Amino acid sequence: MADDLLVSNVRPYGAEPTDILIRAGHIAAVGMITPTAGMPVLDGMGKLALPGLVEAHTHLDKSLLGLPWYRNEAGERLIDKIENERAVRKTLPIDPARQSRRHAMLAVSHGTTFIRSHVDVDTDCGVSGIEGVMATREALADLVAIDLVAFPQSGLLVRPGTVELMEQALRLGTETVGGLDPCAIDRDPKGHLDTVFALAERFGRNVDIHLHEPGEMGLFSMELIIERTRALGMAGRVMISHAFCLGMGDHGSVDAMIHALADAGVAIMTTAPASRPVPAVTQLARAGVVVCAGSDGIRDTWGPYGNADMLEREMFIGLRNNLRRDDDLRIALDIVTTGGATALGLPDYGLTPGCGGDMVLVAAETVAEAVAQRPGMRTVVKRGRVIVRDGEVRPAGL
Ligand SMILES: [Zn+2]
Repeated sequence: MADDLLVSNVRPYGAEPTDILIRAGHIAAVGMITPTAGMPVLDGMGKLALPGLVEAHTHLDKSLLGLPWYRNEAGERLIDKIENERAVRKTLPIDPARQSRRHAMLAVSHGTTFIRSHVDVDTDCGVSGIEGVMATREALADLVAIDLVAFPQSGLLVRPGTVELMEQALRLGTETVGGLDPCAIDRDPKGHLDTVFALAERFGRNVDIHLHEPGEMGLFSMELIIERTRALGMAGRVMISHAFCLGMGDHGSVDAMIHALADAGVAIMTTAPASRPVPAVTQLARAGVVVCAGSDGIRDTWGPYGNADMLEREMFIGLRNNLRRDDDLRIALDIVTTGGATALGLPDYGLTPGCGGDMVLVAAETVAEAVAQRPGMRTVVKRGRVIVRDGEVRPAGL
């Protein structure tokens, strides 16, 4: 669906007030524009205009939004959380179609117009999560674009039958092959990554790997990912999510790895968690690594936090990386806008003529204020259609 709309009196990235004309869902002109008869007009009231926010890493299939509060008593280790989730999923009413719809609608209300969602594929749930999120993708196609990652949350090789389910997910139309801690979970880094990249090559899909592994172990896995990215000519189509190892250990090794990532065209996704070491976003940006951000799980069996607001995620990036100057806060904004768009290969992204007519209007004076104060009551336009007005998703969107 694509519409015509004149968005008047807005300030792109905090610049002087202007008008943005959207025709057939794409930005046709930016400047002082007189509306023609019958042209729908949205009065931007001098608000800051940003392109639609990009949620580059979340898990739409397993949020507990709208369900009774889940009492989390999972153990400390990653494997404890994985096993807890697989067990709990059998007892909680987690319908991936319903939960993903609730979660995606919350994200849209905050100004997100593109989501990459990892979706569990394992020998217990099969591809039911993929099918559920695909139903949401279709139902909400006019509000948000959703890209799916087939994610072997419980391991790929350690649970026989998972690779065949991954193939099934890819045949259904999943865009990206996921992976997870090749050393720590599968205990077979070469086998794990060869399988992930072989699937990507065979089906012509992208790769996105959760890498929580610490220090030298993580850097070793990263080296293997870079080798395979180069060998298959996949620059610009591979992402490493979390990459905690870049926030640890020997400065020289980390610095060399960051330059290797830039050179190989491998993007990094960070959630900027307060509780873990993280890659330093300014160091990555200076080296030319594409950086994007995500909420990760929102209120699920892994943790109780999150609200799917990418402006709040920007604030966490700012806090975690000690960004205080206005020009540094612009780096945080770029991560949840153009960084995400580049990492995910989104065409026509931005606020200039020719770009898709997606934008979020925020009551802030400057980009820095938007990042630091994350004002609510946002208005969101998707392909020339007002889908959220003052924080309320418009019913016509459903
Ligand atoms: Zn994740």
